[in-house]
Amino acid sequence: MDLRSDTVTQPTSAMRDAMIRADVGDDVYGEDATINALEQRVARWLGKEAALFCSSGTQSNLLGLLSHCRNGEEYIVGQEYHTYRYEAGGAAVLGGIVPQTIEVEADGTLSLDTIAERIKPNDPHFPITRLLAFENTHAGHVISQDYFIRARTLAEQHGLRMHLDGARLVNAMAATQLTAAELAEPFDSVSVCCSKGLGAPVGSLLAGSADYIARARRWRKMVGGGMRQAGILAAAINYALDHHIERIRDDHDNAQWLANALKARCEHSDIVVSEARTNMVYLTLPSLELAQSLKHFMEPHHIKIGAAKKLRLVTHLDISRDDLERFVALFEDFLKS
Ligand SMILES: *Cc1c(COP(=O)(O)O)cnc(C)c1O
Repeated sequence: MDLRSDTVTQPTSAMRDAMIRADVGDDVYGEDATINALEQRVARWLGKEAALFCSSGTQSNLLGLLSHCRNGEEYIVGQEYHTYRYEAGGAAVLGGIVPQTIEVEADGTLSLDTIAERIKPNDPHFPITRLLAFENTHAGHVISQDYFIRARTLAEQHGLRMHLDGARLVNAMAATQLTAAELAEPFDSVSVCCSKGLGAPVGSLLAGSADYIARARRWRKMVGGGMRQAGILAAAINYALDHHIERIRDDHDNAQWLANALKARCEHSDIVVSEARTNMVYLTLPSLELAQSLKHFMEPHHIKIGAAKKLRLVTHLDISRDDLERFVALFEDFLKS
């Protein structure tokens, strides 16, 4: 049982069968039929002109930023958003793109007033502000569509573009009942991960206008992301889009059940349990030492969790309600010990 992340899922045997049967070709020559079909499918799904298969969400976001901003241009981004904090500074290192970070609000958004203050006027002292970069879901929070529509109005007033890191867009879909295209609508570009809740082994897609995706395709080649018979991976994603979207609700129900069960057990302890946020529950522990001893307590039971004062538990394809019942029973033993 691995509750650290939804990236840890194993491809199912039906998914592996789909991979074996994939029709493949050289995708750098544009000849992989399975990749071509997947890119068209995802473009339609997100309501954009074109899409590009990428090796990871980090690569898809990187190409996304590089295709919007030139060196010396700036993107405005959350301090805790993946495109700033968790991508090794790729946009700055490889693109000379300047990040302007903003503290993330408790609900996962960025204050639109603060964004407006940070947008640079046209003055040779300043980098040129080009892009607003958002995330949905962020740390499990679903961001309201109304917020993004207001952000879009602000972006248009200043001639800025908008990128969405939709690594977990399918979780936002399940939580809001909106379609992928509706969620993607306010954005010029969207990145989605297929190796998280969707349960595919590898791959993300970037979507946007045809011109934009043509630029991203050149960048992808430059950073070594042009793969050959990659249709074998696209087949797994196609399978996931057919069979694993509806079931995301089970992950959310499981996270809800887990949050309630842990809350009941923690009432008289100094551990604080968050509300379930999509497929995540956060525990706030009084010390790192306690977090480490919880982790060590679970290890002999073949349960993997992280060790942090703010500890994330994540539900996914390979976590059943029975698993969570076993986890909660052990958690109770830990509290007693
Ligand atoms: C996981 C994740 C990504 C992409 O990560 P990769 O491991 O490179 O696929 C991007 N953004 C967010 C918010 C993520 O959680």
